[in-house]
Amino acid sequence: MSYDAVIVGGGIIGCTTAYFLSRAGMRVALLERGALARGTTGNSFAWANASTKTADAAYHRLNAAGVAGFRTLAAEFGAETLGIHETGAIQVVSRSDGPGFRAMQDDFAALRGFGYPCRWLDGEALAAEARGLTLPEGAEALLLPADLVIDAPRFTNAIAEAARSGGAVIGENCPALALAADDDGTVKGIETADGMIAAPRVIVAAGADTGRVLAELTGFDAFATRFPLREVPGLLLTTPPLEQNPIRRLIYTSTTDELHLLPAPGGGIRIGSDDVDGAIWEDRSEASMRRGGAALLKRAGRIVPGLSDRVTLDDCTLQVGVRPYPQDGKAIIGPLPGAEELYVLATHSGITLAPAIAAHMPALVHGQTPPDLAPFGLGRFPGF
Ligand SMILES: Cc1cc2nc3c(=O)[nH]c(=O)nc-3n(C[C@H](O)[C@H](O)[C@H](O)COP(=O)(O)OP(=O)(O)OC[C@H]3O[C@@H](n4cnc5c(N)ncnc54)[C@H](O)[C@@H]3O)c2cc1C
Repeated sequence: MSYDAVIVGGGIIGCTTAYFLSRAGMRVALLERGALARGTTGNSFAWANASTKTADAAYHRLNAAGVAGFRTLAAEFGAETLGIHETGAIQVVSRSDGPGFRAMQDDFAALRGFGYPCRWLDGEALAAEARGLTLPEGAEALLLPADLVIDAPRFTNAIAEAARSGGAVIGENCPALALAADDDGTVKGIETADGMIAAPRVIVAAGADTGRVLAELTGFDAFATRFPLREVPGLLLTTPPLEQNPIRRLIYTSTTDELHLLPAPGGGIRIGSDDVDGAIWEDRSEASMRRGGAALLKRAGRIVPGLSDRVTLDDCTLQVGVRPYPQDGKAIIGPLPGAEELYVLATHSGITLAPAIAAHMPALVHGQTPPDLAPFGLGRFPGF
């Protein structure tokens, strides 16, 4: 059987793309070397937001389109079915943190300029909003009601099921081995252990492995080292379900020690911190993970009173995920220059961006470049 497109990778980006292409009437095959949503997507903090993307208007717009895209899909399938949680977020900074406070004021001005929903909470309003939590002296906050928490594995599996219902074939335990192409570079499909899957276009959505996968598929080893993507590991700790979980919104703080926590889909608290991620980067041993986990739990205990009496490290789940981080921090979306029917989708913030990127894919694979995607092609990197 031949297809209109083969997608390599069954994370949130690949599966959401499969859904949008099949909805547009295309015959789609998706190949996942293991099980769906077990790569970075299954180890993500999974905060869908455009609130932390204020430095670049085009990147903000794409992220805001992702957040809006989740709401559109929730209206279609039901938020519960897709694991989309309307928590909103609060960014908290103390007045005593001068640079942090000024940065939050700048974010507020930028977000208002972009028209992204946000409200300033002074100390009194914040205390009412964050009842039951201990926040630093002099803390004020931005309330970001549009931000969402996504149960990323649930979303990915549900959207893959919707793609299947639309006729897509989703193959698990089915690694893509090589790109089939003519001598002139015309794409013919993908080789697998079970034979060739024929299609005139291939979309690589292989997350942090993108460089290595492109090298394997094309035989050009240089992709493995030169693809402009860094791998940035991150540690997450999730507590068991808590009775009367005091974390109702996602909370993001830079006042004392940087910390982000959210109400996890299972009823516990999911905790992460960029500083702790730094230590994991240096040393990925079990002992280092446990040290990082203990630090996360301790920091969260400063905000959630009594947390350390209710939960020990052994009760919690620790996960390490690897962020696919393009060199300039933005997304890579588009054809590989010189092989026009081989498309690459590789990005951090891929949870947020999945609905926005995938919704544009039917146009992109038909030779149009939607203006929202124009700044994110591979051609912006030297050597591509
Ligand atoms: C700790 C952490 C926190 C994060 N927090 C957020 C956040 O709050 N908000 C946000 O938006 N983003 C966040 N991210 C980033 C986000 O999770 C990723 O950008 C996103 O999950 C990437 O999805 P993906 O589908 O591209 O990659 P993946 O989920 O990694 O999927 C790629 C898939 O390709 C498959 N594959 C690889 N090679 C082959 C092959 N040869 N054949 C077939 N299949 C193959 C892999 O098995 C894998 O399943 C976070 C990431 C981490 C690690």
